[in-house]
Amino acid sequence: MSIRLLPPEVVAQIAAGEVIERPASVVKELVENALDAGARSISISIEAAGRERIQVVDDGAGIPADEIALAVTRHATSKLARPEDLFRISSLGFRGEALASIGAVSRLTITSKVAGAAGGARIRVEGGRAGKVERVGAPVGTAVRVENLFYNVPARLKFLKADITERRAIDTLITRYALAYPQVRFRLSEGERITFQTAGDGDRRAILAALYGVETAKQLLELQAEEESIRVRGFISPSSLTRSNRKEITFFINGRWVQDVPLTSVLLQAYHTLLMVGRYPLAALFIEIAPQEVDVNVHPAKAEVRFRNAERVLGFVQRAVRRALLAYAPLPAVPASVWGARPPAANLDWQVAHAEAARATEASPAAGPEEAGLNPPWPTAPRLPLLRLVGQIGAAYLVAEGPDGLYLIDQHAAHERVLFEKLMIQHAMRNVLSQALLTPAVVQLPPAGARLLSEQLPALQRLGFEVEEFGANTFQVRAVPSLFANGDPSLALHAIVEDFEEDERPLQDEIEKRLAARVCKRLAVRAGQTLSPEEQRALLSDLERCESPRTCPHGRPTMIHLSVEVLERQFGRRGAR
Ligand code: ADP
Ligand code: MG
Repeated sequence: MSIRLLPPEVVAQIAAGEVIERPASVVKELVENALDAGARSISISIEAAGRERIQVVDDGAGIPADEIALAVTRHATSKLARPEDLFRISSLGFRGEALASIGAVSRLTITSKVAGAAGGARIRVEGGRAGKVERVGAPVGTAVRVENLFYNVPARLKFLKADITERRAIDTLITRYALAYPQVRFRLSEGERITFQTAGDGDRRAILAALYGVETAKQLLELQAEEESIRVRGFISPSSLTRSNRKEITFFINGRWVQDVPLTSVLLQAYHTLLMVGRYPLAALFIEIAPQEVDVNVHPAKAEVRFRNAERVLGFVQRAVRRALLAYAPLPAVPASVWGARPPAANLDWQVAHAEAARATEASPAAGPEEAGLNPPWPTAPRLPLLRLVGQIGAAYLVAEGPDGLYLIDQHAAHERVLFEKLMIQHAMRNVLSQALLTPAVVQLPPAGARLLSEQLPALQRLGFEVEEFGANTFQVRAVPSLFANGDPSLALHAIVEDFEEDERPLQDEIEKRLAARVCKRLAVRAGQTLSPEEQRALLSDLERCESPRTCPHGRPTMIHLSVEVLERQFGRRGAR
């Protein structure tokens, strides 16, 4: 075949394919245009999950009648003037191709009017062919209607998922944008039914409540941090509130929703060991950064960005999240049942007080710019005070006295934490001490487990295990981390392959942490093991040195604290409630 230029319709469809993949992509482009036009109210209605019709009506600036034909032309935009502007983009659009692309693969009608104009204008585009501009009466703003999406691209139609999936993609998109733009009123409807709407009064918590329910929204921690030319604010879940996937982790950068894997992974690292394996936090974080620090022209759908200094941004976000988490992390409250009718609720009070303080600080205009960094000022994260060992009870718990009361420590969870942190410190220094076994241990695993394990051999090696394949589903362990010198290597290998979720592809660093957490759990002292006084003391002082002594690596509490006040109240020495 000889080389030929592609016919213009094919060029247009190829280009459209990069931007408009499904109904939700249409909604995204239209909503972004409305936001760029300064709309205060955006109403989105769809029919048949967006296949039949998508309409977005806004009250933004509108398009002048003499420019409306240009708006549907490829590479025509009002948002970029000079080449340099490409490197400091502050609008959501800039490529000038969304309307042209939508027009190429649907029946598109745009009606618009600018303030002060005598009337509005309307243009229709069908399969890439634009009709004449008509004069019509219209309110100020823009209404864009997209009918029969992909009617002329049957191949694309076949790739659309079930209605429920396409609808969910639109729901997710609108709820995310509503969260990012709380001052804008959003309304989403399908047919006669309004499926989601916001007040546009700037109240993000109310939007979170609409999204997740009041109870969950109440628990979300508010976060805000700022340093030179970068700021992050938003909500994250406490470690007690999790999901089984990452779908509720959202990042916006300068008002743009981005799918950014490195940001997600630093967020997860900030939760380092506070979450149980396979659980993920909820987060909606809004990052503002000087436009010249970020390149948004990476992908036609503009869903990815590049930072000029990624390390700085990632480090900043991670520190902000970590600080918020540690600051808010309460000690596990004593279950009410322990106290009969009078629960101490001390920790709850603490949490509520801080949440209220946070709100008060935010509301007060006095909180000026001198309050850089975290705002409100959270208390610095308490680690453990020095503890005096009292003894062991039930061969399961250590009892200790601190300056602020009594501590009951779960020996298994505490040891798990200690082993884990020791191992991870050595791992971070790339110097895990390992000990060769006198006689290598031979371990047989079920086939699926064996396959998983053989994929993880390099990770295991970095954790101080020397394991090699030794025939079908069989492995030979030649060395183990010195920390586990007395443990059973077979238990360790089994622990590693148990409930490993195959569909998850965590980052390498995370995999290693997870593997480590699992082995530590399996090899930590158990409840029922009597510890000598020396062992008890060693465990306690190791725990005091831990970075996160209050939870085990899987997120369960290692201790219960009964404060002096709680004790006094219980014994009636203080104003009982
Ligand atoms: P881009 O957003 O990248 O500029 P689009 O194809 O999405 O490209 O839109 C082309 C132009 O049409 C925009 O630059 C803007 O001037 C105008 N426009 C599109 N939608 C709207 C709207 N809802 N309100 C006002 N102007 C709009
Ligand atoms: Mg646009």
